[in-house]
Amino acid sequence: MLDALPELIRLIRSEPDFLKVAHIVVTRVPDILGCEVGSLFVRDQSTNTMHMIANDGYELPPDQEIIVPAGKGIVGLVAHRYEPLNVPDILANPHFYDHPDTADERYRAFLGVPVMHRRSVVGVLTAQRFEDPFSEDEEGFLTSVAATLSSGLSKALDNREIRLSAESAAIVRPERVIRGVAGSPGIAIGHTVLMQPSANLEAVRDRLVDVDALGAELQKLDIALASVRAEIQGINLSMSDHVGEEELALFDAYLRILDDDAIAGEVRTEIRESKHWAQSAVANVFTKHVRALESSKSSLMSERAKDVRDLGERLLHSLQVIGHRSTGALPKDAIVVAQDITPAMIAEHNLEHLKGLVAISGSINSHSAILARALNKPAVMGVTNLDLSDLEDAQIIVDGYYGEVVLHPTSETIDRYLELVQHDQEFAIELEQIRDQPSETKDGRRVNLWVNIGMVSEISRSLDRGAEGIGLFRTEIPFASRDRFPTEEEQRQIYREHMQAFEPRPVTMRTLDIGGDKPLPYFPIDEENPYLGWRGIRVSLDHPDIFLVQIRAMLKANAELDGILRIMLPMITTIDEIKSAKRLIKQAFDEVIAEGFNVKFPLIGAMIEVPALLWQLDSVCEEVDFLAVGSNDLTQYMLAVSRNNPKVATLYQEFHPAILQTLDHLASVAHEKGHGIGICGEMAGTVEGAVVCIGFGYDVLSMNATNLPRVKWVIQRITTFSASRIAKRAKQLDDAESVLTYIRNQLSALNLEKAIPHHEHPEIFF
Ligand code: PEP
Ligand code: MG
Repeated sequence: MLDALPELIRLIRSEPDFLKVAHIVVTRVPDILGCEVGSLFVRDQSTNTMHMIANDGYELPPDQEIIVPAGKGIVGLVAHRYEPLNVPDILANPHFYDHPDTADERYRAFLGVPVMHRRSVVGVLTAQRFEDPFSEDEEGFLTSVAATLSSGLSKALDNREIRLSAESAAIVRPERVIRGVAGSPGIAIGHTVLMQPSANLEAVRDRLVDVDALGAELQKLDIALASVRAEIQGINLSMSDHVGEEELALFDAYLRILDDDAIAGEVRTEIRESKHWAQSAVANVFTKHVRALESSKSSLMSERAKDVRDLGERLLHSLQVIGHRSTGALPKDAIVVAQDITPAMIAEHNLEHLKGLVAISGSINSHSAILARALNKPAVMGVTNLDLSDLEDAQIIVDGYYGEVVLHPTSETIDRYLELVQHDQEFAIELEQIRDQPSETKDGRRVNLWVNIGMVSEISRSLDRGAEGIGLFRTEIPFASRDRFPTEEEQRQIYREHMQAFEPRPVTMRTLDIGGDKPLPYFPIDEENPYLGWRGIRVSLDHPDIFLVQIRAMLKANAELDGILRIMLPMITTIDEIKSAKRLIKQAFDEVIAEGFNVKFPLIGAMIEVPALLWQLDSVCEEVDFLAVGSNDLTQYMLAVSRNNPKVATLYQEFHPAILQTLDHLASVAHEKGHGIGICGEMAGTVEGAVVCIGFGYDVLSMNATNLPRVKWVIQRITTFSASRIAKRAKQLDDAESVLTYIRNQLSALNLEKAIPHHEHPEIFF
């Protein structure tokens, strides 16, 4: 039995249509367990009724709906208790519910396991046998199958691929709220623009269309065919100077695949006869040909398979962008939706038209979210249940405060959100007035508010918002937007542009911090556990060639300027790494002086991101001039939770009391040693985080420019005493949720709740 499990799991994972998955499961389970019945029930979350969506074994008329009323039956009990139930004789069980349509009582041995998704029961998978009770092994088997169904079932429900019975469907609103993770604050209302860097034939969901819509699907296919033909002919033309006649003939052969008497004709037939929408018709027909060619032993044929796949994917891509590519620009209220948001996707387009971003991958502190915050674009990340193939030009609301998207919102919902947008705008006007005022607490304590930066385009926005320095220059960003390592002179120019703009304010340059979720396209780091691998200073010390060039560029960029250059080392784990980095910095300094530049020796700081350093702070302080807490990474390493994985996003808690205790400890030790300490992780830019950091005595808060005025507004209205009282109490609480609730309540008591973005959660509207 257990031998059959891997194959069944593979089948489940490779089938995109969940109803087909359900059918496979309920037919394979009785075969494998040697029992009579397999069923899959789905729970209607609003009524708690259990709906059978697939069954093998009962003799039911087609379209017969089986619904178990709320609170009834052993199936209902499995859902209620969140655990498997192995019942040897259902007739002896007080919860047995004799459904009039199933003749259930004949199958007396019952095994049911819940299908869980993110802590709730979304369904129940059952097996039934005439007599022999189920064994523990069988229970383990069914539990494993149910676990594999979890995300597919929840996604199918969210996408309404599975509709429950008419009566319960009637109470489901046409709009859908899908949860992800808050990526960048703010609210955006607009229309989706799908960005799919590479179309994937295997990822297209089958969708049937009404007869009336077939004409439109055929028309889309024609447009896509014309566009791919033009694309290939364009390549052909550009190659004609470089290759001979024979090679060019290959392009013609390639293009013939798109003729009506070849594969393209089959796609047309698939649309007409099977009533598939164009995307799944392309996917089905091309995949069939690719598989046939791939299974051939001939290498010529498998090469041909690649051509066919390439054309299929081009066609699919063209279908997915129809409507957007034709204009070449984003529509005015574009919400870019993609599997992964890349800097290129953002940079390529008119930022004014870009209203918000939604990414299927990523989480709160993945670098795409950080970029969205830097650009002040609301973003929701990790929306794993969003089906991209169903999302062309749909109206959507992005709630970047709470990490939710509302698809197909009703006009009432839109009005509610517009009120919140209006509130934000009014507050923004108030914030503009404090731009040039000092960032000082009510009792006159100065708190330095600096910015995290990485793109030249952010300079003026940062200065406009009153930034008093750069607390973190993410140098990997200019490295990532090239196709090779930038030269020393190229780096010098970029760095100098920032230093000149900020002079005489201090500028903190972080040395290259690649690895983790920040690869360079031209320097791939392929590792199983990238966050625990070759990252930050580890790469720099293994590559003094890259490191020395970067330090020399930083030093030269600061030549003759009054602003203080601070060089900051990321991902420090050992004291020796600091010593080695300092030796190289000294070497670069001597070289730059020898070349005749007038430069001052920079201040050197260590980022506290790796928890091990907490026990070596005395030695760290002896080696450096300042400490900067990278709370994004410190949180992920302290809590053992990836900052980039939506599955564990709720566990990634910067306000975990252990993190607050750590922040407090770090500030005390740094100050005892006479060092300044700053924090440049994302929590410093939240109102709640800023208050606790001020309470712990942090000297510098470095954050995205967007949040800076809001944080300053709070600082000006709070005393050091209040902030410190809040921080000391918050760190004693039990969990992150209590911490946040406590801080927010305290801010409300001080009449500062206006600064907590989107204090009033629109959940109450639904
Ligand atoms: C951090 O880890 O907190 C930090 C500021 O660095 P990054 O987010 O770039 O890893
Ligand atoms: Mg970091």
